[in-house]
Amino acid sequence: MKFWLGQWKHPRYKTAGIIHVLVFAGFILLASRAFGLILGISDHLVLPDRLGRAYDIVRDYATTVVFCCMVFAAIRRIVFRPARYAVPRKFGKGHPADAIFLLALIAILMLADSLYAASKAAFLAQQNQPTEFLALLSLPWVFKYLLSTASLTSLQDLHLGAYFAHDVTFFFLLCYRPFGIQFHVETSLFTVFFAKLDRGTVKPVRWGVPDTQLDQVNSFGVKTFEDFTWKHILDFYSCADCGRCSDNCPANAAGRPLSPRFLTIKARDYAFQHFPVFAKSHNSQSLVGNIYSEDEVWSCTTCGACEEECPLLVEYIDKIVDLRRGLIDQGNVPQSLQKPLKALESRGNPYGKMEKKRADWAKAKDFQQLCDVKLLDGKVTADTLYFVDSITSYDDRIQSIGRATARILSDIDDNFGILGSQEKDSGHEVRRFGEELLFMALRDQNIQAIKASGARRIVTADPHALNALKRDYKDLPPVEHISQTIAREVRRGNIRFSKVEDSSKVYAYHDPCYLGRHNQIYDDPRSVIDAIPGLSRVEMRRCKDRSFCCGGGGLMLFYEPKEDERMGVKRVRMAAEAGANVIVTACPFCMVNIEDAIKVAGLEGKMSVIDLAELVDQQMVRHEPATVSSQHPQRIAHREWTLEPTTVRGG
Ligand code: SF4
Ligand code: SF4
Repeated sequence: MKFWLGQWKHPRYKTAGIIHVLVFAGFILLASRAFGLILGISDHLVLPDRLGRAYDIVRDYATTVVFCCMVFAAIRRIVFRPARYAVPRKFGKGHPADAIFLLALIAILMLADSLYAASKAAFLAQQNQPTEFLALLSLPWVFKYLLSTASLTSLQDLHLGAYFAHDVTFFFLLCYRPFGIQFHVETSLFTVFFAKLDRGTVKPVRWGVPDTQLDQVNSFGVKTFEDFTWKHILDFYSCADCGRCSDNCPANAAGRPLSPRFLTIKARDYAFQHFPVFAKSHNSQSLVGNIYSEDEVWSCTTCGACEEECPLLVEYIDKIVDLRRGLIDQGNVPQSLQKPLKALESRGNPYGKMEKKRADWAKAKDFQQLCDVKLLDGKVTADTLYFVDSITSYDDRIQSIGRATARILSDIDDNFGILGSQEKDSGHEVRRFGEELLFMALRDQNIQAIKASGARRIVTADPHALNALKRDYKDLPPVEHISQTIAREVRRGNIRFSKVEDSSKVYAYHDPCYLGRHNQIYDDPRSVIDAIPGLSRVEMRRCKDRSFCCGGGGLMLFYEPKEDERMGVKRVRMAAEAGANVIVTACPFCMVNIEDAIKVAGLEGKMSVIDLAELVDQQMVRHEPATVSSQHPQRIAHREWTLEPTTVRGG
């Protein structure tokens, strides 16, 4: 009701959105009139007297508005063509003529409808008979005025002509619809109804086949067109070719060979060619290498911007993951990813580092003096488990996020610990890369270790780990991101901040895709930043659910697709445009990408990046020695704390 009838997402693009809402509402309103004309019955038979007259007024205006929208939309398509309608040569041909033809057909319908009513009213008026009321300044009203001097025979001919023109156009449109983008009006009802609600998850390899029986599945993923699910094929027919998905796709913006819109259009064209209505269907060929390129399939960061934007809720991540599963099943793994995947298999991390070194970040001497992080091995237990994940455990720069997180947790409640060598990579990227069996192995080891730790809640500073534990794993204690923990403690007055000394610093918060779009956590990090006195924060042009991916998702740290400009560099430029000189993020992958991008963009010294946990750790007011516990002078007394439920779409 909300997304189809309510057209919820359309106004995200103001001009096109308003036109679409008006035309759609006009269609709904005009439906009973259209059926009245088809059945050859008068309007007064359709609705009772008063209601009928009210409907006539609304109908006259609806006809007028829809006609004006068609004219405006045609001018927009032909003259002021928005950039998102363009079809780059590498993606094939667009279908602009189809769009214009459909606009023309709808305009003819509106004209015929108006002329039908106007000629009748003009005829009756000339004979001094009572006429039906035509709404002031509406199209039928204008036509009646123009026809006031026409002969009675011409009016009769026009009335009959308009009736037939309406019905012929209407039936032609009905028959033509399945061959053009207009088909989305019908199919979108089902696409929206069957849309996936729990975004952030990845579809199983085969619906209805449990993990334990995956060894009986002969072929993984999508290799040919027929391997797509019926829902995904329905998506192909429902796409309105509006270009909103690609307009927001960071891979497309960076010049990678991927545009979600064309992922759909190419598949739809393929379906029309290979499964024609009036001829035999062709044998299906491998999609990658035929309509898709390998680079296209690997270019996606699974950021979710396309799905967030699509007014028809067309899905992309599942399709891309399924295409990747198909490639992996054929042994088609990009060279640069072979080593990290092997290392994940043997060592549980993509760097190939020793398991016993996983907790070394917490053993730095100066850090350990302040914060003693427990290793939860089953004998030692704690209420809270800090799930660190691979990048924070092993990357020298990112370890600082781990230490900041541990210090914050320690200040809130020292009853926390980590899994150390028992922790494996969360497998989040591995799964989205298409390596389902490896993901399952990592997941099972982690679930076992987490259950053995006895923890009652899990906190992580890595949105990818958050998403994996929350959505890809099952039966775990509640999980939250450290930004949620901090925001709650700030609200409760348990965390206070010192004033920012450097007034020249202007901060901009970058929403990580797996914290924002996939888990709807937008406000907590912002409320934490805004709680720091004297801190000045600006919003980037693309923020919250329209945030622009830094380029780090989907094992992208190990894979460099062809691109014109790095996504991270684009993001850093957006921060500079907003007037910021410090980017705050809340994801270790964003930190790596943005830090790197600052150097590539030549903004070293002018722009810096800091993780939210580091910022909080830096500005947090530590408690006075008078209130300290004897063991850890900077800690406050042990306090019980609980996770607050967060609103997660579909979760
Ligand atoms: S998930 Fe992100 S990168 Fe992938 S196609 Fe969609 S918008 Fe582009
Ligand atoms: S998938 Fe959705 S957003 Fe993309 S072109 Fe089609 S209808 Fe528009």
